[in-house]
Amino acid sequence: MPHPSLPSTMRALVQTGVRQLEVMERPLPELAPHEILVQVRRCGICTFEQRIYTGSKDFPLPTITGHEASGVVAAVGPKARTSLQVGDRVALDLLDRCGECYYCRRGLGNHCVYGFGGKRQLGGFGQYVAIHPRQAFKLADGISLEEGTLAEPIADVVRSIHRGNGRAGDVALVIGCGLMGQVHLVVGRAWGLRVIAVDVNQRRLATARQLGAEAVYNPAQDNVAAAVNALTSGHGAPVVFLVAPGAQAAKLALEAVGIGGTVVIYTANYPPVELPIDLNLLHYKEITLTGTESRTAQEFAQGMELLNSGMLQLRPLLSAFYALEAADDAFQQALAGDSYRVILRVSE
Ligand SMILES: [Zn+2]
Ligand SMILES: [Zn+2]
Repeated sequence: MPHPSLPSTMRALVQTGVRQLEVMERPLPELAPHEILVQVRRCGICTFEQRIYTGSKDFPLPTITGHEASGVVAAVGPKARTSLQVGDRVALDLLDRCGECYYCRRGLGNHCVYGFGGKRQLGGFGQYVAIHPRQAFKLADGISLEEGTLAEPIADVVRSIHRGNGRAGDVALVIGCGLMGQVHLVVGRAWGLRVIAVDVNQRRLATARQLGAEAVYNPAQDNVAAAVNALTSGHGAPVVFLVAPGAQAAKLALEAVGIGGTVVIYTANYPPVELPIDLNLLHYKEITLTGTESRTAQEFAQGMELLNSGMLQLRPLLSAFYALEAADDAFQQALAGDSYRVILRVSE
């Protein structure tokens, strides 16, 4: 039963077709007794939403996308086991995990077969979501709702860093300095990594410098592998995060990684990219070539600790804010690729 002070309907940004968004009036999601209802205030437009918007990723429509969300607890179900209270500001993990499937039981909740709760709807672009309390994390007083929308990207990067196996003091090369590359930089630095940023875009490299990159290189004009060798006494980078698509970036990663090092493929490639690899490179240098996908519940929790600690400098990554009604413009700006995160004000 929704709280009597709550409205019976909400506004939601519904994707009805390829490149077709409509703000619609929708009933409030039904609140199960063990759930909490959250009023979504802010939600970022991630590449996942952009791919569904342009149709490059198949997704059952109509749907309400949006998964980088923050908001305020609006109601707590009578059987919800939680310390959260109405009015608490929270960041949301809208990808749930069942805890019972093959992957969840193996500690790979990031691959849960019921990740979308069976709904095939993420819901962050709607004004209310009913979720399990384990999906909501209280924001510290000094952390804004806008910064809270970055909880999910931060959590994904926590997993990426786990996969990269870097140690404090290690040089970590981040190839690709869009939003996710910059989050690798910010979280990597908090982790004790010496981050070197690589991008062909000078403006992105300037942001990387501002956010504390130890060095920045542009492969269009710098010999990146040689520069990394110079910085590591000829050993190469112990960790390389591949946060740009395409074969060129991947080749650079394999050139720059050192003996015993790890290349983490963070970015998805659409269309798929195939790369011939000299197996002797992996054999003799014992290089680990791996990927990372999403995050586990534990990694989300760890990302929240980092976010709430205030150690992460995130404000330069919050590029623009739009009302729900201006979602078309917001998606155009996000797709143009020259900003970091574009955020919708789902509720004021
Ligand atoms: Zn995301
Ligand atoms: Zn599962």
